[in-house]
Amino acid sequence: MSRPAEISRAAQSTAGVTAASASGLSKLRWLLAAAVVAGVAIAAAAFLTFGSAEGPRERPPANPLDASRAFGYLVEICRLGPRPSGSEGMEKQQEVLVAHFEKHGAQVRLQEFDAAHPLNGQPVRMRNLIASWHPEAERRVLLCCHYDTRPWPDLDPVNPRGTFVGANDGGSGVALFMELAHHLPKLKLPFGVDFVLFDGEELVYGDRGEYFLGSKHFANEYALDPPKHRYVCGVLVDMVGDKQLNLYKEANSLKYAPDVTNSVWRTARRLDVDEFIGRRRHEIQDDHLPLNQIARIPTCDVIDFDYGPQYSPHWHTTRDVPENCSGESLAKVGYVLLEWLAEDVPVGKSE
Ligand SMILES: [Zn+2]
Repeated sequence: MSRPAEISRAAQSTAGVTAASASGLSKLRWLLAAAVVAGVAIAAAAFLTFGSAEGPRERPPANPLDASRAFGYLVEICRLGPRPSGSEGMEKQQEVLVAHFEKHGAQVRLQEFDAAHPLNGQPVRMRNLIASWHPEAERRVLLCCHYDTRPWPDLDPVNPRGTFVGANDGGSGVALFMELAHHLPKLKLPFGVDFVLFDGEELVYGDRGEYFLGSKHFANEYALDPPKHRYVCGVLVDMVGDKQLNLYKEANSLKYAPDVTNSVWRTARRLDVDEFIGRRRHEIQDDHLPLNQIARIPTCDVIDFDYGPQYSPHWHTTRDVPENCSGESLAKVGYVLLEWLAEDVPVGKSE
């Protein structure tokens, strides 16, 4: 598979070698070369400042997200241990998150329901966690992820019944939202924002169990018992902590929510976040399907599915741990989401 980020890094280091080998040039020639480079740089800066034929191009704001703090949240969440639906680790996680989002000014509620345990049929208490910013707004945007972890690391070649802490698969969305909670209160938006953390995305043991229990419940409630507020659109994040982040436009997102998908990738291009690659790749079943199909909320999935078995050894294995994730990746995705909320949400368009 191609990894454009690696290719461009390789190209840069080749250029470095060429420059170093030219050290025998005379001082005068170096000065001349430096002057030409400086001239080009000044011209480029003037072009960026005063704009092209398409009009002025504003410099994007710096990324306000704190990558190391985001990574710290990922470590904190994974230290709670495995967090499958109904587990002790999940209950501890809920306590941490309710306190965290409330501390930063969100209104938090738990949407509860029971699901049958796939192995013994006993009821498992499920809780979707909803943190609302500007809860009074009736027009809202949904940012969501799942926060349960798969019970077993089924794809682990050594120990498929071992310990699975789901750093990328489950933890990354949570850590990202914990970091975003520092920034949401500062945004002045014409709509409210809900973080929805779905339970039961994969309460699946081997081939027993059902996916997307939390998002299906959420979508059914929204469709059958409509609340006063309405969601304009949504973005799902899943597996966004990979060190080598590759985020392609996902096929179901383009099918159900093309405006939302394209607007998010446009924001990333504006911010020069190259990890968002403007091509379609992968068709993924994820929590965005119930939102699109049942709740009719146009929602795209921002997912690095190259964190899968054919590309990466970590997915659904005991090696899905924080050491294989990156705070920088979380911060880049958060940067795009924050700027998208501030500037690029396709409000008023119907899909
Ligand atoms: Zn998974």
